[in-house]
Amino acid sequence: MSHTSSSDSNSSSATPKTALITGSTSGIGLGIAHALAAQGMNIALNGFADTAQIDSIITALQTQHGVKASYFGADMRDAAQIESMIAAVIQHFGGIDVLVNNAGIQHVAPLEDFPVDKYNDIIAVNMTAAWHTTRLALPRMKQCGWGRIVNMASAHALVASKYKSAYVMAKHGVAGLTKTTALEAAEFGVTANAICPGYVWTPLVAQQVPSTAAARGITEAQVISDVMLANQPTKQFVTIEQVAALAAFLCSDAAASINGSLQSIDGGWTAH
Ligand code: NAD
Repeated sequence: MSHTSSSDSNSSSATPKTALITGSTSGIGLGIAHALAAQGMNIALNGFADTAQIDSIITALQTQHGVKASYFGADMRDAAQIESMIAAVIQHFGGIDVLVNNAGIQHVAPLEDFPVDKYNDIIAVNMTAAWHTTRLALPRMKQCGWGRIVNMASAHALVASKYKSAYVMAKHGVAGLTKTTALEAAEFGVTANAICPGYVWTPLVAQQVPSTAAARGITEAQVISDVMLANQPTKQFVTIEQVAALAAFLCSDAAASINGSLQSIDGGWTAH
C-alpha cells in the first residue's frame, strides 16, 4: 500500500503517495500532475492523447520530479472503464491516496437547441465520472486513514452563464458531491474539496481565440477582453500554475481542516 500517514509522508524518506488525476493529458490536469509530482507523489495519468504525447508527459514527470508516472486509459463516460482504471491504478501503485477529478468537456448552445448527446456526455464526464471514481477510491482511503479528493468544479458551480446549461448543471452537481463526500469521509482523515476556477488560460482556450474572432468579426484582443474576461474583475486569466498550486495545497497535511469547501479562484468573478 502506498500510503503513510505521517506528516512528512511526501519526503524522500517516506513511501511516496499516489495521485490519480483524471483528464491529465492537457491543461489544468497536466499542471496538477506536475504540481503533485513536485511534492514527491507518483502520478497516475488519464485522458485522451496519442502514444507519443503520453510518453512525452511520462518522461517529463519522471525526469523533472524523480517520481514514477504511468498512464491509465479510460473513457470517463463509461462506468466499466472507470472501474477497470481504478483497479489497475491500485494494482500498479498499491493504492490511491489522492484523487483529482478533473476531466471535463464543454458545449455551448441555447437550451432549446442543445444536442442531447452533448448533454449526456457533459453530465457523464464532468459529474457522474467523479461519483464513480469517488465511490471506488474512497473505501481504501478510509481504510488507510488518510486521503485527499479534489474535484475540479468551476465558477459555474456557483453561478450560471447563458448557453451552458449542461456544464452549469454538472458543475453544481460536483459541488454537491464534494460536500456529501466530505461529510461521509471526515472522520477517516479524508477530505474532499472543490476548486472553482474562472477562465483559465489552457491550450484549449488559446486555440479558440482566432476562430472566435473570425466568427464574431472582432479582433483577437477583443475576444480576450470582451468575451473571455468580461466577468473577471482582474481582467486576467487564471493560470494553470495557480490552480495547480491550490490543488497541491488542498492535498497537503496543512489542509487537513479544509473539508467540503468550494474554493474560488476566479479573479473576483463570483464576488459580483
Ligand atoms: P482541457 O481540454 O485542456 O483538458 C481536459 C482533459 O480531460 C484532457 O486531458 C482530456 O483528454 C480529458 N477528457 C476529456 N474527455 C474525456 C473522457 N471522456 N475521458 C477521459 N478524459 C477525458 O481542459 P481544461 O481547461 O484543462 O479543463 C480541465 C477541467 O477544468 C475541466 O473539468 C473543466 O471543466 C475545468 N475548468 C476549466 C476552466 C477553463 O477556463 N479552462 C475553468 C473552470 C473549470
